[in-house]
Amino acid sequence: MALLLKGAAAAAKLTDITSAKVAQLKEREIIPTLAIVRLGERSDDIAYERGAVKRCGQTGIEVVKHTLPESTAQSELLKLIEQFNCDNSVHGVLIMRPLPKHIDDHAVVSALSPAKDVDGITMGSMAAIYSGAGEGFAPCTAQACVEILKHYEIPLEGKKAAVVGRSLVIGKPVSQLLLKENMTVTTCHSRSQKLEEICREADVIIAAAGKAKMVTAEFVSEGQTVIDVGIHDDGNGGLCGDVKFDDVSETVYAITPVPGGVGAVTTSVLASHVVDAAEQMHKKEK
Ligand code: NAP
Repeated sequence: MALLLKGAAAAAKLTDITSAKVAQLKEREIIPTLAIVRLGERSDDIAYERGAVKRCGQTGIEVVKHTLPESTAQSELLKLIEQFNCDNSVHGVLIMRPLPKHIDDHAVVSALSPAKDVDGITMGSMAAIYSGAGEGFAPCTAQACVEILKHYEIPLEGKKAAVVGRSLVIGKPVSQLLLKENMTVTTCHSRSQKLEEICREADVIIAAAGKAKMVTAEFVSEGQTVIDVGIHDDGNGGLCGDVKFDDVSETVYAITPVPGGVGAVTTSVLASHVVDAAEQMHKKEK
């Protein structure tokens, strides 16, 4: 049976570091604050919001919730975001997406200042990940994958990674973050040929295809580490990932569980971004 890379341990360590930074900021009378914007009552959004509020509470970060009706006009949402951009007491903004259909996602994302974009959705944040310069943050889930690998001291430098998925939220940013760790990265997608072979040859597999249990025993080999980003209803009242856990865990060296893996670390990365945003804002003000 593989080593279980539980997210809770990585999350706890990151939360401790963030709490210490919050305490230091509070000594300077700076209260790190996250604004959460949610339109409507989608259960996924509510669950993520609940997790974010709880994690921020553990670190001393203030959260201001803006819960708006699903019918909110785009102009009203844009006005709210503009207020956040100008408000120095708000350091980070989390906008629950997907937004309702009548709202132009691109217009909303473009309106947010990258300096407050703690979930890495703006072009500015993406440019920052790719160039290593400028303002902005990595998407929290993508960074959570790397935090788990680092927490468990999985060797990265010079090793091969296969990332299954190329979305802007996970696949592409996690590929960039692993490249920054000096890994040799292959980013795979639905048109990739010889996917099983590419994965078998990697030292680290990041499974982020959004397809339940698609990474089977044929994708893995001994000594590998598997990070499972997927979250799916398993049809039996539980959750499962993109990896067929029982098959794969017989072979690989280490694997994240679902639930209790990547998802558990995401909100602690979010909290760390809020603190970093607060520190950066007040450094600029000095
Ligand atoms: P997405 O936008 O649907 O992207 C899926 C990616 O996987 C696409 O690039 C797609 O390729 C690729 N893909 C799909 N089927 C494939 C196949 N058979 N072989 C190879 N590649 C394939 O999904 P996402 O937003 O990145 O999310 C991925 C998963 O992570 C989902 O299960 C989601 O629920 C989960 N998630 C978890 C967390 C967390 O905190 N743990 C947070 C967010 C999301 P193409 O580009 O060619 O279509």
